[in-house]
Amino acid sequence: MAVDEKVIQNGILGMGLRGDPKTGILRGFGVILAINSVDYLVERELDFIRAFPEAERMAENALVDAAQWCANATFGGMMKSPEWAGLIAPMVSSKRDTIEALHAVQNTLGWGRVIGYELDEKNTTYTMRVQHSYYIEPYLGRHGRSERPRCYMWLGVAAGNMDLVFGTKVHSFEGQEVKCETMGDNVCEFRVKQKRSLFDLM
Ligand SMILES: [Zn+2]
Repeated sequence: MAVDEKVIQNGILGMGLRGDPKTGILRGFGVILAINSVDYLVERELDFIRAFPEAERMAENALVDAAQWCANATFGGMMKSPEWAGLIAPMVSSKRDTIEALHAVQNTLGWGRVIGYELDEKNTTYTMRVQHSYYIEPYLGRHGRSERPRCYMWLGVAAGNMDLVFGTKVHSFEGQEVKCETMGDNVCEFRVKQKRSLFDLM
């Protein structure tokens, strides 16, 4: 049985992703979620990078790292939930299905839309393409075109998807955003590969 994105999206959206009237907490799929303004999220990340003018790349890597841990915790948690078992697991019988199910869930979260991917199971590489990433409008509106990619959260999620699909530890995979709509590309494209360990002689 193939993964039916519409069924997953209708199932998740039908759960009503909003805070509980009594507690204000938004629970779903075994995890607690939060709704935030993207202007807030994007500008706080840019503030963080600006706080380290001598080490901007390090600050960017820290943001990607946080997103990768978050992807593992959030989607790893969802994959163990009764909702996943009831709604999604029956459609999933391969790594490709798992990644498509993750994309279907990610496409309901207000982050933009995964529009395509390639997964090479033999070489453990993955390319994911996203349009309307939530970084694009706030970034272009405030700062104009960027000279480098800006979708730190999506990059961490792309690598996190591979951590989850191959059932390995957090940070078994690493990625790069090679095209970004903030740079004038028509899509954001993320390429992920397995991390080599320090003493890997292959
Ligand atoms: Zn981007």
